[in-house]
Formats: sequence, structure tokens, C-alpha cells
Amino acid sequence: MPGTTSPAAPPDLGGAAPLPTAALLGRCPRCGRGALFRGLLAVRERCAACGLDLRAHDAGDGPAVAAIFVVGALAMIAAFVVEFRYEPPLWLHAVLWPAVVLPLSVLTMRIAKAALIALQWRHRRRSAEGV
Ligand SMILES: [Zn+2]
Repeated sequence: MPGTTSPAAPPDLGGAAPLPTAALLGRCPRCGRGALFRGLLAVRERCAACGLDLRAHDAGDGPAVAAIFVVGALAMIAAFVVEFRYEPPLWLHAVLWPAVVLPLSVLTMRIAKAALIALQWRHRRRSAEGV
């Protein structure tokens, strides 16, 4: 139809990997192909696929805060539900909840750390380049 404009174009991400890909799969924030982590939570110095220097990016305490708020709240709710519904012995709580909370905490911290590093890379790069 003449006179109509196309919908607003999506923001230019400048070749950045999609945030869900970078966060959920733990990939490089620029190319989305290279692994971000070396081990469980340690960030690699450099992307093996594109060579992006990852040493300058630091997520700080953000991933731990995400794990505390998300996993801690869910674990407390689940512990109360199990206690009031099934009334298991105390030793079962002592065995069950660390086995649930520790892997979920590591998973949550990996996702949060990758997301924070991806967001840092996008925003710091743009401000440094004046884009
Ligand atoms: Zn890369």
C-alpha cells in the first residue's frame, strides 16, 4: 500500500549472538559459536571461534544473586510443601535438598553469568564505539 512504512526495524545488534543462545547455551556473546565457559563457571580468556577477548568481562556477584533469589526461593517453597504434605524424617531433608539445590544453583549461575557477560559486551562495546 503506498504511503505506508514498514514496521520499525529491529535494533542493530552489530553481529551479536542472540541473547538466549548466548545465555542458555553458554556461547560467545559475539559469534554465538565458541564456548564461553572453561569448566563449570570459569570464563575462557578468548573465544575459540572468533577470538573475542573475554577477560575484560566480569559478571561480579550477579550470578550468585540470581541463584540465591531464584533457587533459594524455589527450594524453600519445595521444602515446605514436602514437609507439610509428607512429613519425612529430618535426615531425608538433609540428603534431598543439597542434591537438588547444588546442581540447580550451578545451572542458574551459568545462565546468569553468560547473560550478564553478553549484555556487558553489547553495551560496553556500543558505548566505547559511540554507536
Ligand atoms: Zn566468539
